[in-house]
Amino acid sequence: MRRIGGHVSMAGSLINSVKKTVEIGGNCMQIFAGSPRSWLRKPFPEDQVASFTKEAERLDILPIFIHALYLVNLATTDVYLLEKSITSLIVDMQNGDLIHSAGVIVHIGSHQGAGFDSVKNQLITSIQRILESTENCNLILENDAGQNGKIGSPEEISFLINSIKNNRLKMCLDSAHLFESGVDIRITESVDKFSRKLENLNLTDKLICIHLNDSKTKLDSHSDMHANIGEGEIGIEGLRNLVNHPTFKSLPLILEVPGTDKHGPDLANVSRAKEL
Ligand SMILES: [Zn+2]
Ligand SMILES: [Zn+2]
Repeated sequence: MRRIGGHVSMAGSLINSVKKTVEIGGNCMQIFAGSPRSWLRKPFPEDQVASFTKEAERLDILPIFIHALYLVNLATTDVYLLEKSITSLIVDMQNGDLIHSAGVIVHIGSHQGAGFDSVKNQLITSIQRILESTENCNLILENDAGQNGKIGSPEEISFLINSIKNNRLKMCLDSAHLFESGVDIRITESVDKFSRKLENLNLTDKLICIHLNDSKTKLDSHSDMHANIGEGEIGIEGLRNLVNHPTFKSLPLILEVPGTDKHGPDLANVSRAKEL
């Protein structure tokens, strides 16, 4: 059985994210471990962890991913922002351990045009520090749409994972970002070619999750806007090519789509994903 779910809210209490997942027909999920707009991160309350874990287990909702704050930038030259980024990731990962999360998914950040080479050592030491300060939780690096200055190409992710050599460092592949960065997954040969590229970069075994999103922007737009499943530029066939490819077919699918009523992943989108 394929694992398919969406990014859901835990506002109010952790257990609300389980209720929401059931409502949208999911059997896996992703949450923010706090407000997405605030740097404030604190340990999940014990009673909430207990009821959440019990209910997720009972309903067989698995895996559970945590998405890091979008404010995080591990490539910043601002030491204050770097410190906040590292600290928030450490708390997210500690919370990940509390709820047996499969990992914390992070957008690495932006070098603001300075170039990957100028920040790669800072990225390595920051990621090492995060991993050393936490116990079991995976840290999952997400590919980006190729926006100017953003870090997250397969080559950059491969460099980081293969330099740091920690088996808790993994990769998440976002279908919209992939398409927006120029990989035309509407064509099966392009998916094959991309799969071989990941293999050559030693990333195939590092893949742990797919963010399944359609794209509002065109191929190679370098601009990231998610669309509902089948309503964007990729379309049903393109998404189908990706999720059923041998390299990707056992990965859980997490939707981060706007939703029919703009309230995020819903039953309609999860149902469409199941039909892929
Ligand atoms: Zn994503
Ligand atoms: Zn995105």
